[in-house]
Amino acid sequence: MRLLEVRNLNSFYGKAHVLHDVSLHVDKGETLAVLGPNGAGKTTLLNSICGMVRTEGEILFKDREISSLKPYRRIRLGMGVCPEGRKLFPDMTVEDNLLLGAGNGNAKEQLEFVYDLFPRIKELKNNVVKNMSGGEQQMVAIGRALMSNPELLLLDEPSMGLAPIILGKIMEALKRIREETEISILLVEQNVHLALQLADRVSVLVKGEIVSEGKAEEMVDLEKHYFEL
Ligand code: ATP
Repeated sequence: MRLLEVRNLNSFYGKAHVLHDVSLHVDKGETLAVLGPNGAGKTTLLNSICGMVRTEGEILFKDREISSLKPYRRIRLGMGVCPEGRKLFPDMTVEDNLLLGAGNGNAKEQLEFVYDLFPRIKELKNNVVKNMSGGEQQMVAIGRALMSNPELLLLDEPSMGLAPIILGKIMEALKRIREETEISILLVEQNVHLALQLADRVSVLVKGEIVSEGKAEEMVDLEKHYFEL
């Protein structure tokens, strides 16, 4: 079943035309990675899907055209967003940050799910976020996105700036989401190696255009050629 379908999406900041006829889809239970270098338009793509950027073209979520809906209405339909830069509340505790993400579903059950995925942030649940490492903060940001019991998880470069050990823990958690839940994932990444480990399919975005797409296992060569993009 098709969960998200983007057709001929064009995105604009004022007169700047950043995405050009981008088309992609995410099926139920599937993980799609959108790969691309700095400035390719990856964040713009996620923000366009959430309704934070002016767009033309079609965005269908669960067969419903959502382009004209306000961001909060799109989220309520079943999206969870882990934004670029995490956007946590630094002076609030881990648990209070998580609870801010609660919406659809039972907050207590969702909290247990998040703590089961990330035992480290359960240990830190009463700590204020600003004293925590980047990786721990990333766990909180992903956890907050999961609190609304989403059908589609949108992840903006979860690997950004993280040490390998903690990144490994985050990868394990994302693999568990993939394997143990019905949640679909749209991941944007610069880290090709990581994205290929997680994704079922990959789309490559360069200068605002999709230049290549395919199954992850067919894209292994991408890693070798990536720096030529
Ligand atoms: P990065 O990995 O650096 O975040 P990205 O692939 O996510 O890159 P975007 O942040 O989506 O890329 O940026 C795509 C293009 O849009 C860039 O040329 C950028 O300069 C431009 N851009 C981004 N945000 C704005 C804005 N608010 N106003 C004008 N131009 C913008």
